[in-house]
Order: sequence, then structure tokens, then C-alpha cells
Amino acid sequence: MAEEQSFSSQVKDELAHSLPELGCCQRMELAAILRASGRVSIGGADRLSVTVSTDHAPVARKVIKLVKAAFPGMQTEVRVLRRRRLRKNLMYQVRIPPQPGLLELLKETGVLTRSGTLTDWSNLSLLHHDHCRRAYLRGTFLGTGWVSSPERQHHLEFTTTETEAAEALGQMLFGYGIPVRVNYRKDSMVLYLKDDDHISRFLGVVGANESLFRYEDIRAKKELRNHVNRQVNAETANLTKTVDAAHRQIEALEQLSVTGGLALLNPALRELAMLRINHPDASLKELGEMCHPPVGKSGIAHRMRQLMALTKTEEP
Ligand SMILES: [Zn+2]
Repeated sequence: MAEEQSFSSQVKDELAHSLPELGCCQRMELAAILRASGRVSIGGADRLSVTVSTDHAPVARKVIKLVKAAFPGMQTEVRVLRRRRLRKNLMYQVRIPPQPGLLELLKETGVLTRSGTLTDWSNLSLLHHDHCRRAYLRGTFLGTGWVSSPERQHHLEFTTTETEAAEALGQMLFGYGIPVRVNYRKDSMVLYLKDDDHISRFLGVVGANESLFRYEDIRAKKELRNHVNRQVNAETANLTKTVDAAHRQIEALEQLSVTGGLALLNPALRELAMLRINHPDASLKELGEMCHPPVGKSGIAHRMRQLMALTKTEEP
């Protein structure tokens, strides 16, 4: 592949390539895709047809796979539309043309009620089982979801035009410990997540395991990088502090030396003063190690404070 594939299409590819084992889940995943990006046209009682549009070829293939698996014998047609301005941008349409059994398909996927009216979005009786809800969320993501590349930012969203659909979806996600926020646009609603833990959980819930590993991997590398940067900054700051302190100490000690004060120091402080002057780059800890006998970190710090106090009293 010449172009680098976005993380979002990688997730969709992965989700599109698996087929749920249970018939109930196959129907619910199809139901979600139909609701998210399908259109039912009713041209008279026996002229029902359904068209699903997507710009993602694997999603189109998945619709066909789901129809064939859950409704054997059902005919489908595919059209590829080339958008005029963006030559690379293809649109795939899967159409289920008028045929016997299509009305049943729409009822069994819950798009239509038993009596043939459009289903109330908040009626989730078909989604009683956990496996079906996961399949439904998978289908919804395939139909209308988008997730940004974790290298850039943490953002996952679904777009819908129906308030009831947004509420039902929000409730279902909340049930998996994934709270969503809503953004109202001109003629649609966007449900979105910005928390990396929640995005990671979502990928797990819908079974995008490969993508989940990739996501976690990138997340971990990013955290490590931030940690290393913080560490380096902290060390640089400490080093600057140490060097500044050493300069001040040496200046003070040289002053003391000029006034003959060094000779008046007790042996321990004199030793430290000489070490400081002779090893301007050493840290306090290193100076402590050079003493005879060696002195610990807090001991040497105490001695340095004593020494500095003496240099102050020597100042005129
Ligand atoms: Zn199921």
C-alpha cells in the first residue's frame, strides 16, 4: 500500500474482517450498519429496497458477508461511485434490491417493528444480550465511527442525525463504563470520547484486539517519552543548581583564603574547603566520598553549611 493508512481505517479493517459466530450478533451488527449508514426506500409494498453507503471497501464487503450469513439466499448488488472532485475518494453502495424476505430482514434486524413501522430507537429489547450489544457497537463504529491516530490525539466519535439514536448509543456505551459527551452540529449530533482509557476500553468491547494492542503500544511509548523528557529536564535543572552552588562556594572560599581564614579552620572543614577548590565540578556527594574517612551526603551538606557560615562571618 503506497499511502499510510489511518488508525481509524485500520480499526475498521480489523472489525470488517471478522464475522460474529452467533446469528443474533450477525443480525445486530447488520442492524447497526443499516441504522448508521443505510437508507430504506419504500416504492410500494413489494418495492422495498435498502442501500448502504460507505467510503470504506471492507465495510461494504462486510455488509454483504453479514447479509449472506444471517439471511442465506438474499441477493445484494454493489456499485462503486467515483466522487468527481476527489478522484481517490470512492463511495461504495451495497443495495439489497426488492425481493421476497427483505421485509423479514428489516424486521429481524429491528429496523422495522413487527407491524412494519419504523422502530423506536430506545427499544433495545433485541439488544438484551451482551454479545449482541458488542456486535451492535461494532456495526455502529463501522457505519459512522471515527477514531484519531493516538500519536496525534485521543478522540473517538460517532455521528448521528437522530436524538433517540444518540441517547440509545450513549446509554449502551455507559453500560460498558464508557461515558460519552455530545456535540450538537447544524443537522447532526456527535457523540465523542476524549479519554484514552475509554477509547482503549471501547476497542476491547468491540473486539478490535490488534488495534487495541497498537493503541496501547503507542500510548506506552508516548508516556515513556514524556517521562524521559521530564527526567532530562529535572536533571538539567539539578546540574545547573549544583554548578551555581559550587561557583558561589569557591568564590567564598577564595575570599577566605585571601584573608588567611583557611588556616584557622578545623581539619575537617579545611579538608572540605581544599577539595571544593580543587574539584569545582564535583557534586557535594562526590566531595564527601573524597574525604578521609568518607562522609555521607547529609554529613557533607552539614559541613558545607558550617563552612559557608564561617565565610560569611569573615566578610567585612
Ligand atoms: Zn448475539
